[in-house]
Amino acid sequence: MSETIFDKIISREIPADIVYEDDISLAFKDINPQAPVHFLVIPKKRIATINDIAKEDREVVGHLSWVAAKVAGEMGIAQEGFRTVMNCNEFGGQSVYHIHLHVLGGKLLGWPPYTDKPKNLE
Ligand code: AMP
Repeated sequence: MSETIFDKIISREIPADIVYEDDISLAFKDINPQAPVHFLVIPKKRIATINDIAKEDREVVGHLSWVAAKVAGEMGIAQEGFRTVMNCNEFGGQSVYHIHLHVLGGKLLGWPPYTDKPKNLE
């Protein structure tokens, strides 16, 4: 699996607005926010899509949700609520092939999400 822009963020080759880091994961603000708060939580291990999660990756992937809630709490959006999303492949709207949990909040979010016309169908 080839390197993505997120590997360059992990290695600090390109800058990002990092909000959390530990041995397993990195969280940083999305460059094109879709809500008042929008950050991404990624594993440092390169995993292309949800379909590529191996049995031994389960702890790493679970860790991403723990980080999402921790940072959401620090940002003051946890009590009102927020949404986590992990897109998979073309139909899921994935554009970066290194799994990432989107964390969106800071406003009342519409549901179901597919009532909005997706960018890739314009
Ligand atoms: P997805 O379409 O689910 O693969 O989401 C990829 C996300 O990565 C999009 O929301 C992009 O705005 C975001 N993104 C791409 N490049 C960067 C970057 N350099 N820094 C922060 N976020 C990025």
